[in-house]
Amino acid sequence: LAQLYTPLNQLGYIYRSVNQSLVDTERLLALLNEPTEVNDKPNAPELMVTAGEIEFENVNFSYDFRTTALNGVSFKVPKGSSVALVGESGAGKSTILRLLYRFYDLQDGGGRILIDSQDIRDVTQKSLRQAIGVVPQDSVLFNSSIAYNIGYGKFNSTEEEIEAAARSAQMHERIMSFPDGYATKVGERGVRLSGGEKQRVAIARTLLKNPPILLLDEATSALDTSTEKDIQKALQNLMKGRSSLSIAHRLSTIASADLILVLKDGQIVEQGTHKELMALDGIFASMWADQISSTEDPPISIGESSVK
Ligand code: ATP
Repeated sequence: LAQLYTPLNQLGYIYRSVNQSLVDTERLLALLNEPTEVNDKPNAPELMVTAGEIEFENVNFSYDFRTTALNGVSFKVPKGSSVALVGESGAGKSTILRLLYRFYDLQDGGGRILIDSQDIRDVTQKSLRQAIGVVPQDSVLFNSSIAYNIGYGKFNSTEEEIEAAARSAQMHERIMSFPDGYATKVGERGVRLSGGEKQRVAIARTLLKNPPILLLDEATSALDTSTEKDIQKALQNLMKGRSSLSIAHRLSTIASADLILVLKDGQIVEQGTHKELMALDGIFASMWADQISSTEDPPISIGESSVK
């Protein structure tokens, strides 16, 4: 029994951390084979993604039925566009991502979340999660080869596909510097990867998975400028043609987002492009000023738009 208990205990630990930070969710949920708090309706159909448009319609949510995590949140992510969420800790950014992934269902009267006009509560969780790629802050690596770690983004992926994904995620050269290239073991018992490298592995996995919708949780820790540039390039490749919702901690990384939503106490208090929000001279502009003054590095440039 003790032998059984320890792994179960570890799984419990993993399960808790999954709920906290959207860590490599599908794989772990499959591993646990454990129902989340969410159940599919009898005979629920599959989600049919046509454009990949996301809509939050007057969403209200509370984790404990007392305090409010989201209050009247409405926004749209049109087909192929990028929406970034910013706001202080506890503002509700992760809650938006967790709800879209259906870790929790909205209560009746708590609004609706739609993908291509289908309420996500009405479709199977499996089909919903197949349509969504998650790039978490801190990815779990398996104690296996780097090829395996990238390749499980897609069932039966070929070596060529894995390498193409690694190239697009700006990881190929780093992998070639490992002693056994793509066969090198990574993880706790192999080559340890940095936070920025793990994030690029997650990006490569997601490229292979090829989902129409992306959830991105930017790492909080500061990265050196060249790693940051690699990640930005990898993300640009990943985000091309997909609808994305990302949590941004470093405001310089989202200057090219199509729409920025500023959250405070579970509400959207400002929204617009970087330029519009700067012109508004409100909360976003003061967050920007704070971040610029607290960082030594000059703001990085993204694609064509250099952010100052
Ligand atoms: P951070 O930047 O720190 O990750 P956030 O903007 O993502 O913050 P959320 O995690 O969405 O904020 O939290 C929104 C609110 O919901 C907060 O008041 C938080 O305390 C609460 N909350 C978050 N997760 C839970 C949970 N599992 N149980 C109860 N309350 C929670």
